[in-house]
Amino acid sequence: MKKYDVLIVGGGMVGASLACALATKTALSIGVVEARELPKKSPDGKLSQHFNPSYDERSTALSLGTCRYLENIGLWDALQEHVEEIHHIHVSEQGKFGVTSLEREEEGVEFLGAVVENAWLGVVLGAAMASHSKINLHSPATVTSLQCLEEGYCVSVEENGHTEDIHCALLVVADGANSSCCKMLSIPHAQEDYDQVALVTNLTPNIPHQKMAYERFTRTGPMALLPLRDERQALVLTLPSDQLEAYQAMNDEAFMAAVDEAMGGRCGGFSKVGQRLSYPLRLIRAEQQILPGCVVIGNAAHSLHPIAGQGFNLSVRDVAILTEELIVAVEQRVSLGKFSVLQQYLERRDLDQHATIQFSDKLQKIFLSKVPGLSLARSAGLTVLDFWPTGKRALARQAMGLMAGVSNGQH
Ligand SMILES: Cc1cc2nc3c(=O)[nH]c(=O)nc-3n(C[C@H](O)[C@H](O)[C@H](O)COP(=O)(O)OP(=O)(O)OC[C@H]3O[C@@H](n4cnc5c(N)ncnc54)[C@H](O)[C@@H]3O)c2cc1C
Repeated sequence: MKKYDVLIVGGGMVGASLACALATKTALSIGVVEARELPKKSPDGKLSQHFNPSYDERSTALSLGTCRYLENIGLWDALQEHVEEIHHIHVSEQGKFGVTSLEREEEGVEFLGAVVENAWLGVVLGAAMASHSKINLHSPATVTSLQCLEEGYCVSVEENGHTEDIHCALLVVADGANSSCCKMLSIPHAQEDYDQVALVTNLTPNIPHQKMAYERFTRTGPMALLPLRDERQALVLTLPSDQLEAYQAMNDEAFMAAVDEAMGGRCGGFSKVGQRLSYPLRLIRAEQQILPGCVVIGNAAHSLHPIAGQGFNLSVRDVAILTEELIVAVEQRVSLGKFSVLQQYLERRDLDQHATIQFSDKLQKIFLSKVPGLSLARSAGLTVLDFWPTGKRALARQAMGLMAGVSNGQH
């Protein structure tokens, strides 16, 4: 029977990041089971550079903490080829006077964060997994059954029409928000449907974006406009679900005019727009993240509202701490799947997970609230923030993923 120390099911952004972190920082043997086709090495050592289709047209805002961690596990040089840095963050509300801005100079950092297209992140993570000798890729492959053993799991994996049993000391479930492994393990998920969708596309602004990230609270919901390489911007527009059809039906000119209006003309209009894709928005949380021999991470553990661009950044912090705890387990010669090892991981992650989920959830609820007086308080809040360096700094640190007490797992 094939044996790995750690078997990760799901080689998406989070599962792949964990595989790379473990391969860089430990001598553990790692298996990754991914339903889609991942890059492979041909016998002459060349990589097939497939774009992993699980990385769609979306972009991801990486906090400074995430950028540093990706550098720490050897991925930043490759990623940097196509990322755009964020030097300024501008937060405002449509039709209101309050505005706040965060500047890299004020924070004393080279950049506040960076934006990467998911397709490129997929290529870099896929190539890194294919080149690490400690990572064994099973793709395209799926899990057909899971059996809990006295130590670890026996996982049946179907690949190329054959099913084989793989034994692992630790099973990591990273197969996304619709996790079939969680269903097999009878782990329920608590779900809250926001009755909103995120409409995502790329635009070319008429005025250079100057590495500015905009977070704007509009009448329909919050929107983010992030700087991309080649003078493009990535738009995430949150809409009530029943308004999606109207936005999808607009021709490109009408759509660009609507975005320009929502932005209050700050980008000087737009000259080009890409394909518009939409994602239903839900807050999904696994009711259990650990079982003896098993840990659930990424969207399978918590899938959040994208308002504050925190989902992947939160999961990278989970990856960093899980890696640290597994290193300690190896040093202490304790089984990787021992419940106390996983409890220690979850205890260290609980506060940050709770705070980040609440931050994303409450932020969108506050800004969509029609309670009289709240709107004025919000505007005043943004203005006050601009003149209150401590509060602004706290907001910047949250956005940069550098909150006090939250390790970036750099050790
Ligand atoms: C509109 C939008 C914008 C966002 N913007 C940001 C942002 O700016 N910053 C940020 O930090 N986060 C952002 N996020 C959140 C971020 O996208 C998620 O946190 C991230 O995608 C989670 O990755 P994952 O690997 O857990 O899940 P996924 O990306 O869903 O990967 C799961 C993987 O598992 C595989 N899989 C599924 N089932 C099986 C199976 N049975 N066997 C084997 N493999 C399987 C899938 O093929 C897939 O590759 C955003 C989300 C949305 C919706």
